[in-house]
Parts: sequence; structure tokens; C-alpha cells
Amino acid sequence: MRCPMQIPGHIDPVVTPRSVTPREDGRVDLMGLTKLQIRDCLAEAGLDAKAAKLRSKQIFHWIYHRGVTDFAGMTDISKTQRPFLAEKFVLGRPQVVEAQVSEDGTRKWLLRSDDGQDYEMVFIPDADRGTLCVSSQVGCTLNCRFCHTGTMRLVRNLTPGEIVGQVMLARDALGEWPKGNMAGFGDDDGAEDEGDVGNYRSDGRMLTNIVMMGMGEPLYNFDNVRDALKLVMDPEGLSLSKRRITLSTSGVVPTMAKAGAEIGVNLAVSLHAVTKEVRDEIVPINRKYGIEELLQACADYPGANNARRITFEYVMLKDKNDSDDDARELVRLIKQYDLPAKVNLIPFNPWPGAIYECSTPERIRSFSNIVFGEGISAPIRTPRGRDIDAACGQLKTAAKKMNRAELDRLADEKSAQLEGSAD
Ligand code: SAH
Ligand code: SF4
Repeated sequence: MRCPMQIPGHIDPVVTPRSVTPREDGRVDLMGLTKLQIRDCLAEAGLDAKAAKLRSKQIFHWIYHRGVTDFAGMTDISKTQRPFLAEKFVLGRPQVVEAQVSEDGTRKWLLRSDDGQDYEMVFIPDADRGTLCVSSQVGCTLNCRFCHTGTMRLVRNLTPGEIVGQVMLARDALGEWPKGNMAGFGDDDGAEDEGDVGNYRSDGRMLTNIVMMGMGEPLYNFDNVRDALKLVMDPEGLSLSKRRITLSTSGVVPTMAKAGAEIGVNLAVSLHAVTKEVRDEIVPINRKYGIEELLQACADYPGANNARRITFEYVMLKDKNDSDDDARELVRLIKQYDLPAKVNLIPFNPWPGAIYECSTPERIRSFSNIVFGEGISAPIRTPRGRDIDAACGQLKTAAKKMNRAELDRLADEKSAQLEGSAD
């Protein structure tokens, strides 16, 4: 197998220029590659099979488990070999264009890829956890009518390196890489390196959970999201439990079973409406995969049980989807499909040009009570980071502001594309 970064990427419904690597300076970015792929890159660079295998194991550990960004810091690789590696390879990170902190402690980063694409990630600290909200695409091909990201044209899918790079960057920013020596990874040039003493520290971290709820529809970038999350879950990599990772989809039904089988993380589904009429309007992918199909795919999702329930996200839109009847129908549907479910009620986060308003607090409370009353958990989410436009559905980086007519035209275009696309 040749070095994978030279192979054009998987193409989902949208064009994915796979790569910016090898970069202009000829070096290959190892970020986002598996151990096997790193081994192939090393072999291509001239290492014999045995050396490539050993080094790939070491380099993998340094990249994903220790967060090292420089070959000079790889203390178990001989000092003479480190400059050679640095000549051939880099360990990139997304470039940070802007970092903002909300008054409630939420942080948002505007990131830029090597080819100049902007995307965002958000970190939400809570008393008992810290959640990183990761983007999967620059923009989105879908056009949920209440979502600011949906008003961007899709620019491209993010690569595995750009997706896992968000998690790595967050760990950099939070200072959460393990310190200390690595059991089983002795220095093969025999020298004791400074700064590599002390104990491995993996607990007490701020970043404990990951949600694929940033920009984009993760199941329209399946392969890259899967490859990135595998690195995040790998015990020799970032080592985060799949139980602490949630993938949110607007309902790409044909890919849901695959996500369960090949990724196996928690599932969140952006349901948002209980009738065809309303869901067709606010989540247009519903015209392609209807509510029944979607709920059946949820019932079939592997690993869903009462301990690992499926989350249904439900944005509260005034006079659109927020009546008591809607709440009762939601309960009926969940029971009909016998789903181990919880419902997250998300107060609508406004953005300039949005055509909806948020339901009143009393309405949301009443909706929540009905669902809770039937034994299904339905907490009301507190919006976080609204002051820095970091709340659900507010992420949008394209500088161009569209007026109402342009927004409507874009919505029509995207819907036509959706209806016309084969899959
Ligand atoms: N594309 C995926 C993941 C991203 S968004 C999906 O649609 O599931 C994370 C959640 O925020 C989704 O449930 C989305 O529908 C919701 N959301 C989008 N815009 C919103 C807004 N303006 N206010 C509140 N929630 C919003
Ligand atoms: Fe895309 Fe999700 Fe926004 Fe819908 S809610 S437009 S799928 S990012």
C-alpha cells in the first residue's frame, strides 16, 4: 500500500479534496493516519520493514497519546533519526484564527485548514464534565431551516486529521496531555531525557466527552468521521471511551446501521418534529428519509439499550413544533418503536435572518412535563455560549452575510439537490 495521503479521498455526496498533503514543502502530515498508514509512509521514506513497524508504533503513541508536535520530543527514537523524520514528515495542527471565551466559560475556536477553509469547535465546561463539540464538515449540504450552518454552502468534508486535530488542539489548549514516562517505551539511545519523569496522569481531565455536533452532517462524511473517531477511541491513541462520544445525525438513515457497526458510539438524532408536514419543512432530509424509517433505524441501532439510550434532539420553535399534542405524539412514537430514548429539548438559538422564534419558557416546560410524565427523560438544555455565537446551530464561519431572498434561494437549491441525489 502506498502512503495513503497521496490517494484522493472518499467522496460522499460532496467533493472532498482529500488532501493538502504532501504539503508544498514535500513533507507528509502524519496527523489523522493510523499506525499502519504511518508504517507505510515510513517504508516509503526508506525504512526497512522491521524499523518501519517499530517506529510507527512509537510515533503513533507520541502523536495521539502524548500530543507531541515535534519529532525532537520523541525521546525513544534515536537522536540521529529524529532530524530525518522531521525532514520527511510533519505533525500538523489546525491553525487557530481566533479563540473566544463566553461569559459562561464556553470556549469557541475558529480554525483554518492548510487550504484556507474555516471551521469551528466549541468546548463546554460543566461541573462534572467537559464536552468538546467537533465539526465534521465546512458548512453543510443540508438546510435545516433553523440552523445557521445550513445557510452555508458546503465547502468540503473535513479530513480525519482535521477532525481528530480538533480534539488534539483542545487538549493542547487545556494542557491535558499525560506527563511523565511511558511504561514500555524506553529510549533506545540510552539517554535519560529531561522532562520525561514523573507519573502518567490520565484522570482529572477537563475534556471528558466528545459530541459530533459542530458544523456539518457527520454521516455525510462517514469514512473520515469513522477514521478520526477510531483514533480518538484507540487505547494507544487518545483513549477516550466510546461511551463518552456521541454522534448526532439529522437522519441519514442508510448510514446509521453502518455507524453503529463500525463506530459504535452513542447516537443522537435530530428529530425536531413529529409530523411529516413539519419535519419536511424544518429538516428537509425528511423528504428523503421519513420519520417511520428513521425511528426504525433507531430501533435497529446496535448497542442501544436502557443504559445507553438514544438521544432525540428537539429544538423548540414557537408555534411550529411545540404544542402539547406534539409532545404527546413524540411519546407515542417513542413507545411505538419501543425505543430506549431520552429527549433533549433545545431552546432555539436565534441568528440574524432566522425565520423562527424560540418557544416561551412556559411552553417548553409544559412540553417537557408531558414527556417526563410518561417516564421519558426530557431535560431542557441551557443554551451555552450564546454571547460568542457558540450555541447549537449558531456556528457559521463564511464571512458572506446573506439577505432573506438569498437564504431562500439557497434553501431551494439545497432541497432540489437533496431530492435529486441518488443516495
Ligand atoms: N448535523 C448534525 C449535527 C449538528 S447540530 C445534526 O443535525 O444532527 C447539533 C444540534 O443542534 C442538532 O440537533 C441541530 O438540529 C441543533 N440546532 C441547529 N440549529 C439550532 C438552533 N439555531 N438552535 C438550537 N438548536 C439548533
Ligand atoms: Fe446541517 Fe445539522 Fe445544521 Fe441540519 S442541523 S443544516 S444537518 S448542521
